Amino acid sequence: MSRYWSEAVHGLTPYVPGEQPRVPGLIKLNTNECPYPPSLRVLEAIREAAGEDLRLYPDPECSELRRVIAARHGLQPEQVFVGNGSDEVLAHAFMALFRHRHALLMPDISYSFYAVYARLFGIEVRTLALDASLRIQVRDYLDAGPNGGIVFANPNAPTGIALGLPEVQRLLQGNPDSAVLVDEAYADFGGPSAVPLIEGHPQLLVVRTLSKAHALAGLRVGYALGQPELIEGLRRVKDSFNSYPLDRLALAGACAALQDEAWLARTLDCVTASREQLSAQLRALDFEVLPSAANFVFARHAGRDAAELAEALRARRILVRHFQRPARIAQFLRISIGTEPQCAALVDALRQILGRTAQVVSS
Ligand SMILES: *Cc1c(COP(=O)(O)O)cnc(C)c1O
Repeated sequence: MSRYWSEAVHGLTPYVPGEQPRVPGLIKLNTNECPYPPSLRVLEAIREAAGEDLRLYPDPECSELRRVIAARHGLQPEQVFVGNGSDEVLAHAFMALFRHRHALLMPDISYSFYAVYARLFGIEVRTLALDASLRIQVRDYLDAGPNGGIVFANPNAPTGIALGLPEVQRLLQGNPDSAVLVDEAYADFGGPSAVPLIEGHPQLLVVRTLSKAHALAGLRVGYALGQPELIEGLRRVKDSFNSYPLDRLALAGACAALQDEAWLARTLDCVTASREQLSAQLRALDFEVLPSAANFVFARHAGRDAAELAEALRARRILVRHFQRPARIAQFLRISIGTEPQCAALVDALRQILGRTAQVVSS
């Protein structure tokens, strides 16, 4: 605390990102990064952009990147907004679309940054509980009455469970008067995308990131898709805050990443195959594993305390994410999908911790 802080700062509760320790040999399955390196074309494009032109400001409109994103999703460039990671895009969207008289609706368990933005911008929040199987209940969002907007992640975080497109559509149809933000950070890994619904729903904003599927968490590029009216709202906020959120290297790298579709397809195949294998192996070790459409699994052991398991893994140099709160998920671990050897090391470590000997699988 400091007497020099403005009053608003005293009331903030900042988001706590997963740790990024600099320990060699650590198996890092705690922040849902891609375990594989990004496309070589990305590195080439960045190298090429790292020249004399760095003395010049980047394109404030990010025209080329917006054109590439629009083409990928079958939209027009004026339906695309880009930002410094989807976290920044989300922040601008909260400011632009959710500061209303009525409360913003969101699931009680979702990406924990949403509540942080709401607090930063003075937005009242009403949480609606996930059901007993930790799924979003669309019905609740139809019965909620007047609201100042709706935000959720699909697939949801940290559950990994995806809501079907007909359900998303039902939610939109029941809420024509408020902005609905669908955060698709993990949609490439198996969730349905709501992008096809943009045309018929002017209130829909879909937010995406290159951090997860494109292996570019370090480049900080995210984007929003929606009808020009919503996009213009975000632009107004951005140009009142920072006209150049993406630097020249990020713009070049992001364009190259989105154009290397073969790299993306291969990476998604590897991650989803490992996810299915890891889920089966965890179930064999008496974990309940929620059906994941993301690049992580959310799992709870039948007998052992989650915090203790996370500590025991840490002692073996494997990091996973454990959330103390809310209490309903305190016995779950969120485990990012690693490379095959990393997943194997995790399963081996868990076998040791749980006192299981490796099973010989006969075919
Ligand atoms: C990782 C994540 C983000 C943030 O992504 P960045 O683009 O790296 O800022 C946003 N939403 C959800 C649900 C995420 O898991």
